[in-house]
Amino acid sequence: MRPYRRTLAALACWMLLLVPGASGQEEMALRADRVIDGTGAVRTDAVVRVQDGEIVAVEEGGTAWTHDLGAVTLLPGFIDTHIHLTSHFDTAGRIATRASGETPAQEALFAAGNAWSMLQAGFTTVQSMGSPEDVDLRDWVARGVIPGPRILTSIRPISDNTGDPAAIRAAVRERADQGADFIKIFASASLRDDGYPTLSQEQLDAACGEAATLGLRAAVHAHGPVSVQRAVQAGCTVIEHGALLDRETLEIMAEAGTFFDPNIYLVSVNYLENQDRFLGTGNFTERGFQLTRESIPVKLAMFEAALDVPGLRLVFGTDAVAGAHGRQVQELIYRVQEAGQDPMDAIRTMTSVSAESLGMEDAIGTVEPGRLADLVAVAGNPLEDITALERVVFVMKDGVVYRNVTSVGASR
Ligand SMILES: [Zn+2]
Repeated sequence: MRPYRRTLAALACWMLLLVPGASGQEEMALRADRVIDGTGAVRTDAVVRVQDGEIVAVEEGGTAWTHDLGAVTLLPGFIDTHIHLTSHFDTAGRIATRASGETPAQEALFAAGNAWSMLQAGFTTVQSMGSPEDVDLRDWVARGVIPGPRILTSIRPISDNTGDPAAIRAAVRERADQGADFIKIFASASLRDDGYPTLSQEQLDAACGEAATLGLRAAVHAHGPVSVQRAVQAGCTVIEHGALLDRETLEIMAEAGTFFDPNIYLVSVNYLENQDRFLGTGNFTERGFQLTRESIPVKLAMFEAALDVPGLRLVFGTDAVAGAHGRQVQELIYRVQEAGQDPMDAIRTMTSVSAESLGMEDAIGTVEPGRLADLVAVAGNPLEDITALERVVFVMKDGVVYRNVTSVGASR
């Protein structure tokens, strides 16, 4: 075949790949220099075979492929277990509130933009801590008509305002009826308000107990030992934040098998970088920002302690709000570079362990036969240079390619 014809054939091939929602798909065989499969294993010179949105085979030293991704590392799609899907800056550049006067369409389009940014950065599954507007976007993305990560949402959190245990149980049932994928519970105040406990043991027992009865996971926002130990006692699934945790509480979580989703960096620096856009709304005061600044070394020390607790199941969540969508891997880079987390362990938290915390380990989080074809390629080797995770050159979700800036490779 003449060179230009070969190029045209390869281009046509890629264009076919880029058609979303194609069904009855031909098998695609993607070659990469290296696959980090999410379980802790690395395969070199690997070929991943994909058909009808699923991974059907992973071969080391494979000799036949349809698409060569080149000198890249192929990984499972990234998972962020804690984001705020609708949070955005309004057209004036301020954090959007009612006062922004946006139309529902504008709010929805901003959220769709967040979804697009995250998908392009390699996040194929995200868990939104909940706003009612998440539901339609979740469903539209799931239907394949809007590009975005797979979205899980709590729709609306449970808090001390929800009421007594009976009212909390009723609210959990209502969320389940509305189609919530999990229950989000506020059990402590924000760090900007010193993180004191806000729910009693009885209220947490009601929230997480009712969720478990309905087969739903419960994610608990809690900063200090008292609120976290109550949540562990109540059998809740995962603790969010935990900025003020001590070793004893971390060990109690490890023993109980409670997942831990610390958000130690991105959320804070994002608030500080965008201070002028937040200042003056809610608890975003000068004092609140001072507490945010002071919390960064506290959270780093807590995370270093957490890394040292055997059996503690760390997951990856960033608490991404306006300004942070699409740059969530900065959280992981910080954990490796500043807290000394092992790069492979860090990658596992963002893939297989997070999948397990979502109860989706049979579907996502690893590059293995039978899993959904959620694949991300980055230029370079993140085990040698963790910042490679920022250089996303290829994103596939459910077998559909949403990003491909690799050079067109040879087929054979
Ligand atoms: Zn949050």
